[in-house]
Amino acid sequence: MSVPLRAAPAAEVRATDGTAMYRMIEELFPICRSITGEGLRQTLRHIARHVPLVLHEVPSGTKALDWTIPNEWNVKGAYIATLDGRRIVDFAHSNLHLVQYSHGLDRIVGREELLRHVHTLPERPAWIPYRTSYYNEGWGFCLSERQARTLTDTAYRVVIDATLAPGYLSYGELAIPGSSTDEFLFSVHCCHPSLANDNLSGIAVATWLASRIAAAPRRLSYRFLFIPGTIGSIAWLAANEPIVPRVTHGLVLSCLGDPGAFTYKQSRRGTAEIDRVLAHVLPHLVQPFIPYGYDERQYCSPGFDMPVGCLMRSPNGSYPEYHSSADDLALVRPDSLQQSLDMVWQVVEAVEGNLTYRSQNPKGEPQLGRRGLYRAIGGQQAQEFDQMTLLWVLNLADGKHSLLDMAERAQLPLPKLRAAADALVAVDLIRPAAAAAHKD
Ligand code: ZN
Repeated sequence: MSVPLRAAPAAEVRATDGTAMYRMIEELFPICRSITGEGLRQTLRHIARHVPLVLHEVPSGTKALDWTIPNEWNVKGAYIATLDGRRIVDFAHSNLHLVQYSHGLDRIVGREELLRHVHTLPERPAWIPYRTSYYNEGWGFCLSERQARTLTDTAYRVVIDATLAPGYLSYGELAIPGSSTDEFLFSVHCCHPSLANDNLSGIAVATWLASRIAAAPRRLSYRFLFIPGTIGSIAWLAANEPIVPRVTHGLVLSCLGDPGAFTYKQSRRGTAEIDRVLAHVLPHLVQPFIPYGYDERQYCSPGFDMPVGCLMRSPNGSYPEYHSSADDLALVRPDSLQQSLDMVWQVVEAVEGNLTYRSQNPKGEPQLGRRGLYRAIGGQQAQEFDQMTLLWVLNLADGKHSLLDMAERAQLPLPKLRAAADALVAVDLIRPAAAAAHKD
């Protein structure tokens, strides 16, 4: 007697991916990243342990489109202490305590002045906010509202052991060539300090996706950018304008570890193939483009107008923990990361397989029974496609309709059409249009 197989081994491997991505997030969580500096570099080196990332260093002062690469920011420590030396707020406890890009400081500060440099979230009294001041020189601390209420002394010692000096802006790039020069661009920001969902979840999913894509030959070429938000995409665009026209699809990945539903934010065009694929896969979860959010703002600026959308679960700014100390390791989940990886993979497969076909028997319906296709339907492939799917593919295999066109017109899922097309190719009833044209 044969025993039915238990869960396919593939499912076990996939479950491990979610756990492994979570582990990567745990390892990267304590690092103080910013748009420049050692924390960012350390993060990129960590990613490079998983995939062969090229590390780029752009010198401070370099012009990039309308921007200038800023000075490099590095922090050794920062604290607020009472005058008798008791540290009451310490960067060592949470790197969110220091406003990013605060300059160095060591002096006694009166209570009134200190409070002008303190940021809190009064409506969430236990959480520390995340604040930056990249392009306005200054200093500041982020405290929980509860901590801030304890600042009752008349003066405090404020110490910021930080340097803001000429250095480099670092970013990581991975190009995976395929048989076509058309590129699928994935972009992930890596500039947030100890925040798990906004930042680290995107990094982990993109790293696992890149290693999966690199594992086998692909039709499209792929490019992964691990960059500091805004200035990183601007630096890349400034240095790589000739590549821009080759990018036929793109996704910014962010906030992919929380349990919320998926959200797809369309590219500026709204009708690019990537927009249509996502509308097909996530029909009720598509939002129109707005010129706000992540690096899609740069890719979709009018001078580039790239077909780049943004895939998230709970969108930036929409969940209470966003940009606060509550966006921590408890907010992200291995199973959410797993689902996100699977979702992006589904998109990659849809785009890879979105070919146009030409029927080899376009006059009248071909006799399917003679070719064993009914047997296939009755047998193991019953779940994959049915007769209706075969008929749609045969009818629209006119060299003009892509598989995605067929999916939209027939209102059938892409994987089902893919399976039917594969079966029809196997009996030479249809051929990929390019190949068919080549043979004609
Ligand atoms: Zn953010």
